[in-house]
Amino acid sequence: MSLATPTTLPSAKGAEGRRHFGQFPLQRRVLLSQMPLAISTVVVAIAVLVIEPGVATGSPHFVLGLGGIGLLTVLAGVVPWHRFHPVVYWVIPLLDFVAIAPLWTAARYVVDGMSLLSAFPVFWLAWSGIYPALALTLGFLGSAAVTWWPYLPGEAPFPDELVESALTRPVVVPFLMLALGVAASILTRSMDKQRVELRSALDRAASQNRMLQAVVETSDVGILVVDGRGNDILMNQAQRRTHFIGLPPGRDDGPEDELLLFEADGVTPIPPEERPVTQALQGKDYRGRIIAIGTDGSQQHLSVSASSMYDEEDHFDGTVVVFQNVTDLMDAIQTRERFVAEVSHEFRTPLTSIIGYLDVALDEDLDPIVRKFLITSQRNADRLLGLVTSLLDSAADSSTVTVQEVNLARLVQNSVESVEVQAKKAGLRLTADLPDRMGAEADPVKMSQVVDNLLSNAIKYTPAGGSVTVALRRLGGVGGIGGVDGGVDGGGDWAELTVRDTGFGMTKAERERLFTNFYRTEHVRKAAIPGTGLGLAITQGFVRAHGGEILVSSEKDVGSTFTVRIPIAGSTF
Ligand code: ADP
Repeated sequence: MSLATPTTLPSAKGAEGRRHFGQFPLQRRVLLSQMPLAISTVVVAIAVLVIEPGVATGSPHFVLGLGGIGLLTVLAGVVPWHRFHPVVYWVIPLLDFVAIAPLWTAARYVVDGMSLLSAFPVFWLAWSGIYPALALTLGFLGSAAVTWWPYLPGEAPFPDELVESALTRPVVVPFLMLALGVAASILTRSMDKQRVELRSALDRAASQNRMLQAVVETSDVGILVVDGRGNDILMNQAQRRTHFIGLPPGRDDGPEDELLLFEADGVTPIPPEERPVTQALQGKDYRGRIIAIGTDGSQQHLSVSASSMYDEEDHFDGTVVVFQNVTDLMDAIQTRERFVAEVSHEFRTPLTSIIGYLDVALDEDLDPIVRKFLITSQRNADRLLGLVTSLLDSAADSSTVTVQEVNLARLVQNSVESVEVQAKKAGLRLTADLPDRMGAEADPVKMSQVVDNLLSNAIKYTPAGGSVTVALRRLGGVGGIGGVDGGVDGGGDWAELTVRDTGFGMTKAERERLFTNFYRTEHVRKAAIPGTGLGLAITQGFVRAHGGEILVSSEKDVGSTFTVRIPIAGSTF
């Protein structure tokens, strides 16, 4: 599958290869319409020659008729009919009647049913589709003239024609011809109608196709459509540009599987079976997968989405893969993160120094008013340091943890103890249900931060009179937590920490955005409760870095429960 070949939408003109009768030039159509009669006449002439050579060579009627049809066939093919009004070519079928009449007169007793030759011009007139009533009348009169010709005065009747039953022929045949003409006329009209409808459907499809093509081509988003066998059906301009960026250096064309694709970090090559198009062709649908394409200065980041197509029988019929260039967005995010990290780092150093000096100053013998001012300054400097630390944590790489043997029970106990005063001040009942020991392979600093964050939230967002309950327990066995809320699968034991409060709680919509950076619920913002909206995003990053998960269940005005589960891994105690 080459992605470099520009492809366009499948054309609505697919049926163009073969032209149908109506699309031929008029001259050719007139000749083709005359041919059935010409060929049938040749067959009849051969039959007469074989059965009664005398008639074929000796009858002036026969020769006249044969010559007439031959001449009309030549005229049908050479006259530039398109220069005249369409009705002018009727002269050929009408003169055909005149030629058939002597032919049938001469040979009617040799080849029975020769008058049926007049069916050809009748059919032709009716089939022409113009002036239907006139065409039917002329066809009827023409076939009647042919059948009645032998009975005109001066023509010698053949003995069998004197038989009464034979006399029915001149009456019946013209009516049969008329019926044939009517049938042909109805058929033509219904076919014409169908053709008009088909034409307009095709025109509509073609115009929609053009519109779609314009939309697809003007889109900044790269679009690739691949059929079930892996052939490109469509690739728009944006995608052709992206494809070019991904080509190995020095190449200006190449198939998709040679493009330089990396994971979002821009350096880890994507294994062949995990390439976006390969996965899409396996029928996998996905949204917003971030990858990098190309190398060095020209590398771009793409957000890739794939959606499978299915035929009427629900079989996989191809896939649509959409590539959105998110390089600017990624750059902006990186710049923001760098900025936050640098600014908060720069803030922290002078702040720590301010706090240090305030501490020292407060140890001095001070005027009570000055002491009060300094305590307020110290409180606010502490708060500022807390905010700056949160910002720094959010910018720091939360995906790496340095694990060691940790007694989680002790770790949680420490955190609980450090917020006891705070809880008491807030008028809350703080209870903890912890085992004596629970060992885990964890990063003690990051896990402490996890517990601190959850505890400080529970205290901040629970009104006086409420309660905060902390519990730690061990979940055992393979897949112990796999079934919970689509949680993590895995073997071995897990540590589960729950922090339950009877606070403000949250709505479902609020719960869904909880782990997003800087998100704070409306109620909390309006109540001006201090915070940055970063704590839970950081907490989630730390928990995931431990291979665990964080879940929340909450009800507005009832309370919230945060549950953290991490694998105990190789802990020996
Ligand atoms: P912060 O607490 O600094 O605002 P977090 O990321 O820790 O930031 O929390 C984000 C938001 O989630 C909070 O602002 C609050 O609206 C909501 N929230 C967090 N914990 C609770 C809780 N226990 N009860 C009610 N709302 C909570």
